[in-house]
Amino acid sequence: MLEILKQSANPDICKPLLDAVIEKAQEFHTVFGRKPAFMEVCGSHTMALAKSGVKQCLINDVQLVSGPGCPVCVTDQKSIDAMIALSEGEGRIICTFGDMVRVPGSTRTLLDAKTTGKDIRVLYSPVDAIRLAQENPDKEVIFLGIGFETTIPILALLVGQAHSLQLPNFSVWMTTKLVEPILRSLLDAGEVRLDGFLLPGHVSIVLGEDSYQFLAEEYHVSGVISGFEPAELLSGIYKLIDLALKNEAKIINDHRAIVTKEGNRVAQQWMETYFEVCDEAWRGIGIIPNSGLDIKPAFDQFNAKKRYQIKQEEPKKTKCRCGEVIRGLISPNECSLFGKACRPTNPIGPCMVSAEGSCAAYYHYMRESY
Ligand code: SF4
Repeated sequence: MLEILKQSANPDICKPLLDAVIEKAQEFHTVFGRKPAFMEVCGSHTMALAKSGVKQCLINDVQLVSGPGCPVCVTDQKSIDAMIALSEGEGRIICTFGDMVRVPGSTRTLLDAKTTGKDIRVLYSPVDAIRLAQENPDKEVIFLGIGFETTIPILALLVGQAHSLQLPNFSVWMTTKLVEPILRSLLDAGEVRLDGFLLPGHVSIVLGEDSYQFLAEEYHVSGVISGFEPAELLSGIYKLIDLALKNEAKIINDHRAIVTKEGNRVAQQWMETYFEVCDEAWRGIGIIPNSGLDIKPAFDQFNAKKRYQIKQEEPKKTKCRCGEVIRGLISPNECSLFGKACRPTNPIGPCMVSAEGSCAAYYHYMRESY
């Protein structure tokens, strides 16, 4: 397994760090009679841990479970079906990120809709959606707004631009998610025993270190804000084990070069200007009160959910267990469809589609580890 780590990391730095983490984890095991258990909140961490080999190297010593931080994976089935139904209207251009087009709905995907002539565009920069609306005044341009606080400020920017340009043919279909409510929901549910969270560096740039203090103060759970390089991941895990051994609950900012205590105030103000808190449905969890953001009534003309009345049917049930994967209850290989009926070329659920999905990470990098 160390070979995998060597391919993607500086072994001079990572080997001693890996040894230190294993030693610390064994000390934890001696004291508590079990492995320390941490959740990587973010899908980018899940992918980085698997791709770098860190997860495989620690498989016997540290339990690392995936969390609900992959935006595509947590989008509930009803929302996926609604977005596909939205694409079926005449004269519409649907704009989205790459992963979304392959997520299976109850009967088909956005990609299937595209092959039947629907105008669905994968954008690399969301601001291209504004240009598309300007260039196509006879069409309705709808941006599918999924994501956490990493992406939401960009959606706020889009609504702000559309408002200042008074674009009549542009709107955003909001199905965004917030980090704090889902962490609270997981801890309140108490379904999975956790000794701490590996917190994502990128979303923390917007949120800031202080936004996680509730974990330590209210739940007595630690968190380490970490980057995505192998050495950063190992350093974060080491600090989490150390805190758990000392029975200390603390938030450590291990990504100080770019994450501040208060976060990015400009991005936060954009969100506050254009959005308000709303209830959101999460895959496998249900509705969590105040866990998403919607467009404020003052900007209703850019709110696709208000402009288009899409009937949301009850989704078709499948054997996909993504809902349990994103709650850290099972590993992807515990799903009976993993690697058989469900593969990246034929995904049954979003966790196998998304570039940040836990099932895709396990399929590409960890199948041999079990
Ligand atoms: Fe869903 Fe496929 Fe993952 Fe199973 S392996 S939980 S079907 S995405």
